[in-house]
Amino acid sequence: MRACKQCSFISPDDVCPRCGSATSKEWQGYLVVIDHEKSDIAKKMSITSNGKYALRVR
Ligand SMILES: [Zn+2]
Repeated sequence: MRACKQCSFISPDDVCPRCGSATSKEWQGYLVVIDHEKSDIAKKMSITSNGKYALRVR
């Protein structure tokens, strides 16, 4: 799996399906957002949709 360099969204694609930015294989840890409206972490990371997000992308 790969993570987006821009929004950290995790997907198997070379280009992020969420924002269209390049993705990277170099990432660590992930966060599963089930209800982004109620998640403080999602707010801090500017996550506006549910899904899996990498905590750190290089
Ligand atoms: Zn993205």
